[in-house]
Amino acid sequence: MTLPLPLDIPEPRHCQSCGRPVPKGPLVKGLGSGCAREHGVTAPSIPRPRADGQNGPTLLDLLARPVIGSPGNVVCRQRTDDEHEAVRTAQQRRGLTGG
Ligand SMILES: [Zn+2]
Repeated sequence: MTLPLPLDIPEPRHCQSCGRPVPKGPLVKGLGSGCAREHGVTAPSIPRPRADGQNGPTLLDLLARPVIGSPGNVVCRQRTDDEHEAVRTAQQRRGLTGG
């Protein structure tokens, strides 16, 4: 089976100012987009805002580093009997316990 070739190939368009072919995009008053901008037919392009390159540490670097002023590696442990007794006494003084 053979498919018919699309024979309605559009005529190549050329910019009226510089004569270069304009294969894509609209012709604005016969001008390509670059010449239209250059001749003030269309608005000038606005430069894209760009951020400076990053120099300092990334957030991942900050996560890997211990926070300044933190006690460092804290290991959780159970209270000793004396600490339990101190907490119980303090709660009784404040009236926090039922007894
Ligand atoms: Zn042109």
